[in-house]
Amino acid sequence: MTTVPTTSHVHRTAAIISQGDEIVLGQTLDTNSRWLSARLLDAGVLPIEHVSLPDDRDAIAAAFRRLGERVDLIICSGGLGPTADDLTRFALLDVVGGTMVEDQPSLAAIRAYFESRGRVMNDLNRVQAMRPDGAVMIPNPHGTAPGLCASLPGGSELFCLPGPPREMMPMFEQHVRPRLRLEPGRAVATRSLHTIGLGESEIAARLTIAGDMMARTRNPSVGTTASQSIVSVRMRYEGPSDAAAAALDADEAAVRALLGSAVFASGEQSLAGAILDHLRAVGQTLSVAESCTGGLLGSLLTDVPGSSDAFIAGWLTYSNQAKRRDLGVPAALFSESGHTAAPGAVSAEVASALAEGARRVAGSTFALSITGIAGPGGAVPGKPVGTVFIGLAGEGCPTKVRRFAMSGDRATVRDWSARAALAMLWFQLVGDATTTLLREVQLDGTPFAIK
Ligand code: AMP
Ligand code: MG
Repeated sequence: MTTVPTTSHVHRTAAIISQGDEIVLGQTLDTNSRWLSARLLDAGVLPIEHVSLPDDRDAIAAAFRRLGERVDLIICSGGLGPTADDLTRFALLDVVGGTMVEDQPSLAAIRAYFESRGRVMNDLNRVQAMRPDGAVMIPNPHGTAPGLCASLPGGSELFCLPGPPREMMPMFEQHVRPRLRLEPGRAVATRSLHTIGLGESEIAARLTIAGDMMARTRNPSVGTTASQSIVSVRMRYEGPSDAAAAALDADEAAVRALLGSAVFASGEQSLAGAILDHLRAVGQTLSVAESCTGGLLGSLLTDVPGSSDAFIAGWLTYSNQAKRRDLGVPAALFSESGHTAAPGAVSAEVASALAEGARRVAGSTFALSITGIAGPGGAVPGKPVGTVFIGLAGEGCPTKVRRFAMSGDRATVRDWSARAALAMLWFQLVGDATTTLLREVQLDGTPFAIK
């Protein structure tokens, strides 16, 4: 890449544009924006807007003009391909003016890219070497679309990157990140703590007890996001870089003190990862027996690299026969046994027998079991869709069963069930096993009294 036309001011704020009909129509999930935001924040540049645009030259040009007045840096991905719907370079020409020129080094690089794969360049690809004469090309060793860089009339600097993540990400790391101009001595730093067992509003209430930690004007700013029964507390510091660590350390300590053992991890760690770390550290092991979650719990656990240190085995005992044959659940517990008082496959008794069976056969310290009605069919009187029993058997302690009333569709019920099982084990391990979990009800199905 030759000289980049630069504006003199620093990159304090950024906007991210994701470009393509497939993004706006919801056919492709925009993962680029999420990734770019995290990278920019990490580098000390604050993203303040995400924009998704269709393959529409005027709409792209209008966004370049508007954001050029608003932010210091714009990163746009997509629309650099060779076909008629790839319009980013033409929209850029509309905004910066001048003429479109063919960039000879880029043309040679595109030809070489094809040749290295034993192919001949199609004439269509020539357009990918075109740039407004005021813009410069960014090389792309991973594909045919070079990137573009230009200064916009409003004063911001624009980088146009290819849409495919495997081309966009290395181009950002190699060519954009080294060109970020940060204000000397200033930092944007973030930290996140993940919690289980508490609702978002309960967390917000606790964080406002000792001074309002969630006040919008506070620095570090503190916010919460809930995702699949896990609530994360995110802290963001903006200011002199030498004070960043101390400010975040103080807030992390305060949040941990207010939320106690509900905090299971920080940063990128998952609940399964935190549990496995804990088990590994004390030399304990885990097995699982799943019915309605169909292996989801085992999957969450084995997603964690190195899980085999603590995770021993899992059974996907879907039929009653498998529950009996593989894990020794007594036949009399099932309705088909003819016993009028048989509790049935979805019951505290079966959850308990599954957990004990898994622990016995695997020889593990702990075993979790899940049996429930994921829906949409399968409800029985007194056990609506979403009724889930989770068992926990542990060496030297009585087997516990909790009942949940999950809501939502089949996927949601299954997902929440697997995570509730992990939550139940987490609180057992950290010594606060009496915490009532989200969506938990009493064993007879009645809600717990509101505290
Ligand atoms: P492009 O030819 O540069 O417009 O990009 C084409 C391909 O890149 C699309 O088919 C998507 O698979 C992928 N892509 C484009 N934009 C994004 C985005 N924002 N997030 C994830 N993938 C994307
Ligand atoms: Mg496209």
